[in-house]
Amino acid sequence: MPIKNILVIGAGTMGNGIAHVSAQHGYAVSLQDLKQEFLDRGLQTIAANLDRQVKKEVIQPAEKEQVLGRISASMDLATVAAKADFVIEAATENRDLKRDLFKRLDSLCRPGVILASNTSSISITDIAASTGRPESVIGMHFMNPVPVMKLVELIRGHSTSDETFAVTRDLSATLGKIPVEVSDYPGFVSNRILLPMLNEAFYCVMEGVASPEDIDSVMKLGMNHPMGPLALADFIGLDVCLSIMNVLHDGLGDPKYRPCPLLKRMVAAGHLGRKTGQGFYDYSSTKK
Ligand code: NAD
Repeated sequence: MPIKNILVIGAGTMGNGIAHVSAQHGYAVSLQDLKQEFLDRGLQTIAANLDRQVKKEVIQPAEKEQVLGRISASMDLATVAAKADFVIEAATENRDLKRDLFKRLDSLCRPGVILASNTSSISITDIAASTGRPESVIGMHFMNPVPVMKLVELIRGHSTSDETFAVTRDLSATLGKIPVEVSDYPGFVSNRILLPMLNEAFYCVMEGVASPEDIDSVMKLGMNHPMGPLALADFIGLDVCLSIMNVLHDGLGDPKYRPCPLLKRMVAAGHLGRKTGQGFYDYSSTKK
């Protein structure tokens, strides 16, 4: 089945980025969300990011309108699902929500249409089991910000077919991304390696090994990381870091994945990083 129409579910951080990149590479995109204000915000973000690409001469000014012209926004899942050739779900990270969404998509989409999830941590096998087409369900884990980052992890669920994998791999390449094949284990590869490193940085702060600034300097200057682990954790959100550490700890059962007590305490205090103005660093003066 040739892919012309891509349905992107969720117009938030990741969904608007996936819609942007899909439209930029010539696909007709339906962007679906629960409220008009979420869709409007997503479209505004895409327009602003396209402006940035024009400024940086990544695209021509005329291309901006062409890309926007390929994206239609809708709250009506049934209508957009019926005409979709490929679905990429980027709704809120919640197991029950995603299982319910995939069950509905299974009944609304044509047989054979691939249903991909951008989940960071939920089992693809588990999501697929809520549908009658587990062979057509796959993980497509883009990185933030989607228009900039090259990687997409393609996660094979227990029943994902070779054909589903091949179609998704080819689509990823036409979106200008570099796909990497990953099996369905907690945290996939990216978060399985990244989060324990961030967690170790939290322990270093808790044990007074060094200050947050100095820990970040070690990793930037000594390991050539573009961002230190504590600045990165504040950017990701400390609640998101905790939830992924819990997925690794519960799913793999090894005590080496236990979330740092300081991380738990900061989340309990509502110090979630940039989004709340306070994390390992203070953003109160830069907060809008
Ligand atoms: P977000 O909160 O910015 O956006 C989620 C959007 O989904 C919201 O606009 C919300 O209204 C919408 N939504 C919720 N339920 C819906 C439903 N039933 N139908 C349609 N829309 C619905 O979240 P995000 O950061 O874009 O994350 C989306 C997904 O991408 C999550 O699974 C997350 O784990 C994953 N992810 C996030 C990042 C990141 O850095 N933010 C990176 C990789 C993957």
